Amino acid sequence: MSTKEGISCSREKDDGHGIQLQLGEARADMSGAGGSANNDVKMILPGATIGVLGGGQLGRMLALAGSHMGYRFVTLDPTADSPMGQVADRQITAAYEDVAAARELARLADVITYEFENVDAAIAGMLTEQSYVPQGHGLLYTTQHRLREKRAIEAAGAPVAPYAAVRSAAELHDAVAKLGTPCVLKTATGGYDGKGQRVIRDADEADAAFAALGSGGTELVLERFIRFQHELSVIAARSSRGEVRAFPAAENIHVENILHVSIAPARVPEQVRQRAEALAVQLAESLGVVGLLAVEMFLTDEGELFINELAPRPHNSGHYTIEACRTSQFEQHVRAICGLPLGSTEQLFPAVMVNLLGEHVEPALAWLAAQDVEEQGLSVKLHLYGKKDAKPKRKMGHITLLTEDVNQALAWVEHSGIWPEMTRC
Ligand code: AMP
Repeated sequence: MSTKEGISCSREKDDGHGIQLQLGEARADMSGAGGSANNDVKMILPGATIGVLGGGQLGRMLALAGSHMGYRFVTLDPTADSPMGQVADRQITAAYEDVAAARELARLADVITYEFENVDAAIAGMLTEQSYVPQGHGLLYTTQHRLREKRAIEAAGAPVAPYAAVRSAAELHDAVAKLGTPCVLKTATGGYDGKGQRVIRDADEADAAFAALGSGGTELVLERFIRFQHELSVIAARSSRGEVRAFPAAENIHVENILHVSIAPARVPEQVRQRAEALAVQLAESLGVVGLLAVEMFLTDEGELFINELAPRPHNSGHYTIEACRTSQFEQHVRAICGLPLGSTEQLFPAVMVNLLGEHVEPALAWLAAQDVEEQGLSVKLHLYGKKDAKPKRKMGHITLLTEDVNQALAWVEHSGIWPEMTRC
């Protein structure tokens, strides 16, 4: 792998896992990056070992993409034979908080990344000291807490829905009066896929919502309910040498707060797509991201965009990039943390990605076996993550339809009858 013209490399370390090259100019680039990422920039060449905290489906797809490029992978995950463990060179099976196991990960890997954001702060700090973690742990700290995240988004000059911090039932009543109903009460930490949140439609529902979420002293945040026309997401990548690129905006449809369908490019005016992509780039730059930053947004009827959430990792709504873009989000993440030039994010085909939850797997496999989809002008790409128990609502896989006609792809999904809850597409 050659380096970009003008960047001088010097051999720094060859310990049998791969060669790391120090990039003097790239280090200089990072000096204004906001301190979130590790300033000690290195180029990690193919042949080196990438250590991943977490062994779920995101790690699995990361390892599949990176091993094509010649990287080796080791994962740390508490579940033996994890989705990533099945395709990685090695799995350390231990709890995420197990310090000895994290140290072993640091010993085996030339560079460390993570595939979920709730990484224990002590472990993240220890890894940053003992290993090369180009993403640092500042951004994890920010995105682990909704209030910190909103303040960081605002400081980056991007809009969020009006919100208020809530520490007591009395504060909740004041906040509901200020923001109006409907509004959404969320726990500041630990929520995902709609867990840890309650919609308050009327002020007299506030006490029940507080009792459900805040009674144990949990920090809460109240947000104005945004009557969005579409939910959009953009995945941006920023490399350890400061290069930034965004993938085309996807349109996301959730069912019971779990992502159901992503349509890319989003069916919104070109100038809205561009604004969404520019916001993601602005956030990645301002937050000094290294690796991927997934930015979830609401688009209102008036054309306003509000940032809902950030995720400093690959994202479910970016799975379409595997087949539809020149570079997948997973390859881009590897490139970004390894200090390689970023790949083109150009989209080659329109795509519809549909999640396969536990209840969808059996009917979807039967349906796919009975279909001649190529004849219908669709390419259907199946991804199963190797999870054993197909529990309802558990993300087991996804399919991506490559299509010239998004409506035809959506009609195919609807006609299958596998996703009966699909009503809003
Ligand atoms: P979150 O966990 O914040 O990503 O929320 C999960 C889903 O709940 C979002 O994808 C939206 O569909 C919905 N939601 C969350 N916050 C709001 C809001 N302030 N206004 C309207 N819908 C929301």
